[in-house]
Amino acid sequence: MTEVAKFREMDIKRNIELIRAELKGSGAKLIAVSKTQPVEKILEAYHSGQRLFGENKVQELLAKRELLPPDIEWHLIGHLQTNKVKGVVPFVAMIHAVDSEKLADEINKQAMKAGRIVPCLLQVHIASEETKFGFDRDELLQFIRQPRLSDYTHISFRGLMGMATLTEDKEQQRREFRSLRLLFEEVRAAHSPALGMTELSMGMSSDYTTALEEGSTMVRIGTSIFGERRNINQDKT
Ligand SMILES: *Cc1c(COP(=O)(O)O)cnc(C)c1O
Repeated sequence: MTEVAKFREMDIKRNIELIRAELKGSGAKLIAVSKTQPVEKILEAYHSGQRLFGENKVQELLAKRELLPPDIEWHLIGHLQTNKVKGVVPFVAMIHAVDSEKLADEINKQAMKAGRIVPCLLQVHIASEETKFGFDRDELLQFIRQPRLSDYTHISFRGLMGMATLTEDKEQQRREFRSLRLLFEEVRAAHSPALGMTELSMGMSSDYTTALEEGSTMVRIGTSIFGERRNINQDKT
């Protein structure tokens, strides 16, 4: 049985309660990943007490936000193009996938215009697949070290985010999550501008149990809450 199989498609409230029970010991936060899901399903999750939602497409996020309660915290979890930054910076609760200096520059610039300090995570490439975005270890250490990190006056760097390889091999996923956690600890120990880094965003429907065991503080879960997404193409980031 896959981890996904214990969840029921039509019972969003129950699925959320199940996951919350599993998160209890760790104190990790639950981001309900609502990409491609209709507003009615998101409202169902909202009425079950869920307030943190994750989307990966700016257009979709802006459209849904109009129709949903204002106290939802929106997390942008997918790859973000620089030309889309402006639209989300005024309200987004966190940008999980800052994967280049260029993107950080643009977020900082737009956040300054919007008069906000935007919480962000740096995405690290931990998977064996070539397709996943993110800094590699050396690039990240260089980014963190550069004296101009403090120039990002309108970004609050809160931690790291990563995605494990999509595989049945749990031990491989564990090694990948562990490498991210060790990097996170290294960054926190070595670099004073990184002191505010407290979040480690890792774990999705098929691998969050392992991610929690390896120290995740935020899991991003879609399918196990809402059921299968209807349009698989929209998954591509
Ligand atoms: C879609 C997505 C998730 C959630 O995936 P599920 O397998 O449906 O839980 C998590 N993180 C990111 C970055 C995603 O794009």
